[in-house]
Amino acid sequence: METAPRSNFIRDIIEADLAAGKHEHVITRFPPEPNGYLHIGHAKSICLNFGVAEDYGGRCNLRFDDTNPKREDPEYVNAIKHDVRWLGFDWGEHLYHASDYFSDLYAFGVELIKRGKGYVCSLSPEDIRKFRGTLTEPGTNSPYRDRSVEDNLDLFEKMKNGEFPEGTHVLRAKIDMASPNINMRDPVIFRILHAAHHRTGDQWCVYPTYDYAHCLSDALEGITHSLCSLEFEDHRPLYDWILDQLPVPCHPQQIEFARLNLNYTVMSKRKLSRLVSEGYVQSWDDPRMPTLSGLRRRGYSPRSIRQFCSMIGVAKSDNIVDMSMLEYCVRDDLNKKALRVMAVLNPVKLVITNYPEDGHEMLEAINNPEDSAMGTRMVPFCRELYIERDDFMEDPPKKFFRLAPGREVRLRYAYFVTCQEVVKDPQTNEIVEIRCTYDPATKGGDSPDGRKVKATLHWVSARHAAKAGVRLYDRLFLKPNPAEDEKKGIDFTEHINPDSLQVIDDCRIEPGLENPDPGTNYQFERLGYFCVDRDSTPGNPVFNRTVTLRDAWAKIKKQK
Ligand code: ATP
Ligand code: MG
Repeated sequence: METAPRSNFIRDIIEADLAAGKHEHVITRFPPEPNGYLHIGHAKSICLNFGVAEDYGGRCNLRFDDTNPKREDPEYVNAIKHDVRWLGFDWGEHLYHASDYFSDLYAFGVELIKRGKGYVCSLSPEDIRKFRGTLTEPGTNSPYRDRSVEDNLDLFEKMKNGEFPEGTHVLRAKIDMASPNINMRDPVIFRILHAAHHRTGDQWCVYPTYDYAHCLSDALEGITHSLCSLEFEDHRPLYDWILDQLPVPCHPQQIEFARLNLNYTVMSKRKLSRLVSEGYVQSWDDPRMPTLSGLRRRGYSPRSIRQFCSMIGVAKSDNIVDMSMLEYCVRDDLNKKALRVMAVLNPVKLVITNYPEDGHEMLEAINNPEDSAMGTRMVPFCRELYIERDDFMEDPPKKFFRLAPGREVRLRYAYFVTCQEVVKDPQTNEIVEIRCTYDPATKGGDSPDGRKVKATLHWVSARHAAKAGVRLYDRLFLKPNPAEDEKKGIDFTEHINPDSLQVIDDCRIEPGLENPDPGTNYQFERLGYFCVDRDSTPGNPVFNRTVTLRDAWAKIKKQK
């Protein structure tokens, strides 16, 4: 797959390990928490984890990190599975859950206590925080740190049996309250939660924390390389400490890489979930969302996303990737495969006065100039057409080369037409009709006498065209980094682009597109790539614009 080729520092480590005989097979995992939908940042992690496993003949497990029953939902579990498969990856039989290991994790907790490396702490959550110290000051030992093994075992069991309310006790690892690394200051490894879990129901009243569950789940699955994002670098000593204390089957190597950041959007699930719940977007799969489901609905192909992940590479330092790179990848992909059609988003009538009143003819149009195997189709042409309102100006400035009074232009695949007059609404003064004559000798769009025109316009036959709804999208945020002012108390939602969605109800498209299959990609000539939305109903197709044909933003930047 196209995720494969690039070398990176993680591949170097894996190759060295394999060459040294450290492992027979590479085993990685992708460990999402089912508390939201996957986004394009997750795609980077998926492509990396599944990609290296595939390339080195190993495997990648899909593991749900479901240790917090209060935030998790089976809806997310199903969506995540769907998205990973859609992206083109397969975990085969290797679907796991942290909750599969709750009994083992509890037993390991008991073992830590027995080895004098774990204790039940009965400080309040606020006191635990206070006793932890700061970046510059060491923490203070909990008064419960030296409880006897018997007392600890007894209390931990009672915690498990639901004998205590939430927040009264926790199990902590006994490491070092003076450690310069705050993660090592006796971290909490189990807390009491009286919440039903979507898989284990009411069986458990204690739940493990992420740091504790993650390394042990990795070890139980025989993971060789545990790839995670950079913010876990400071957690690595804890990852290693826990595995060093306990009789685990293996000790995976944690390796951190930089997460993907994209400008003009947000990527944390907490923020994405707010966009949905507070109604800034319609759903997790709103085409403006950077979620995989949103990108899919927008018209992105899995291939274009994998291509993007391969292009951005994997490195050890944080950076921000420009949205135009993602757009480049989808254009590149759709250019090769999308059927070209003509659609008019903002129609104005064009009447060809010297064309027979009731006549019509079928003209040949090319389906994809990039791929002759896609062939041609026949498009109806008649006396009354629609063209884009923007393609006509009554009093054009110097650089406007499209249709204007007295000027000749080409209608794509059809004829040369010359504008003779315009008809206006007497009340509003709006142009309601552009009246032209055509030159029958220019059929197909070529002039026999070598006459040149400066513009080619798309059009549809007024009599034959179908109606369609179109949704045009712009960036969801006005600022490259919408979260940058959060420390100053300015919420990221304040930078939302109020014009990120434009709905046009009354577009006209070539006949034959009345009932397209949702998810199908088209290029509307001159307008961009469009994808059929799932809101389409028979006779009322709705199209989402995936992306414009060129990078309009780059052009604007250049002009400035
Ligand atoms: P978020 O902050 O969006 O909630 P998360 O890390 O909490 O992300 P998880 O479901 O825990 O989300 O992530 C699963 C895996 O995906 C983790 O290994 C995580 O490192 C990786 N991941 C998440 N976001 C990104 C990103 N932006 N770039 C690369 N990898 C990511
Ligand atoms: Mg997480």
